[in-house]
Amino acid sequence: MLGDSVMDTLARFHRMRGETTLWVPSVDHAGLSTQVEVRRALAKQGVRFETLPRDEALAAIEKWRREHEAVIRSQLEAGGFSLDWSRYRYTMDAGGVRATRQVFVQLHRENLIYRAERMVNWDPRLRTAISDLEVVHSEENGTLVYLLYRWADGSPGGLEVATVRPETIFGDVAVAVHPEDARHAGAVGRSVVVPLTDRAVPVITDEAIDPAFGSGALKVTPRHDLVDYEVFRRHPDLAMPPDILDERAHLVGDWVPEALRGLDRDAGRLQTMDLLRAGGFVLRETPYRHSVARSERTEAVVEPRLSTQWFVRMGPLAGPAVASVREGRVRIRPERWTTTFFRWMESIQDWCISRQVLWGHPIPVYHCRTCGGDTVAVDPPATCEH
Ligand SMILES: [Zn+2]
Repeated sequence: MLGDSVMDTLARFHRMRGETTLWVPSVDHAGLSTQVEVRRALAKQGVRFETLPRDEALAAIEKWRREHEAVIRSQLEAGGFSLDWSRYRYTMDAGGVRATRQVFVQLHRENLIYRAERMVNWDPRLRTAISDLEVVHSEENGTLVYLLYRWADGSPGGLEVATVRPETIFGDVAVAVHPEDARHAGAVGRSVVVPLTDRAVPVITDEAIDPAFGSGALKVTPRHDLVDYEVFRRHPDLAMPPDILDERAHLVGDWVPEALRGLDRDAGRLQTMDLLRAGGFVLRETPYRHSVARSERTEAVVEPRLSTQWFVRMGPLAGPAVASVREGRVRIRPERWTTTFFRWMESIQDWCISRQVLWGHPIPVYHCRTCGGDTVAVDPPATCEH
């Protein structure tokens, strides 16, 4: 009522000044948040959304969606807003669906949409990638654990490695130190053993390591941390490890000690710490306040996860937006935000547009079982274009 009253006032004001003014009513399908709500409502009736057959799950969403659309519409009507109801649109109308597919196909043809394995924000409760905009950061209390990574050659002692996520040590491929950190100069080129495993990993150097953090030695876990992934990419001699956390953030795979496999990351952390303490690997633990990323929809801690998704290439799209502000065709108010706008636009990351949800716009890409090639088309193709 508040937001629409403001829009209504503006629409009427401009009409009274004799200006042609159109205000279009529309509702969004809001894929992710709707699915979260339906999932919650079903859970109260003792039904697990994930176990429903696809058509039943879609029917439940559609029922929910219709009820809520009717409520929103009746509220707008009750408010007496001067909307043009003859142009009412809903994002999943046939026209909107077709327009979305067309834009996807066009951007793909212009090489502005691509598919790649990248580090994404993963919500393990919803089991989907989410965008940066759906992540909320807050300062939270944690524990910084200092672990002993023993020398692989059997000589006494080892390297002290600090981490807030001891359960991820099983995905380590290296330990990295800053190239100018004199304390660790003798360690570079040697190997250490990942605690609780028999795997030796090399000690490498990387400019991105902050010598002031912990002991100045960082474990490198490329599949489960963005900084680590970037360090990994600068060291082509390192091999990509298997996933040690699955889509639900449960510890999995051969690299995880058998006793810990199948545990979720929280139980996994507690039990890993028990084993580390028992093995004499824990040097000390200190309280640590740090920024934690949570999913806006579920409040689950976001898991940085290497995953194959679809992205929009933002560089070429940001260019014209930056130019229009630089050339004064667009002005930002208040003016002091112009600097922020440039900073956002010039450091913009490619945008992850795919979600692992049941409901929404399907990506118009068709995979050929015979040749493995993809056909990108607005209408479902009868044949593979390869
Ligand atoms: Zn084919």
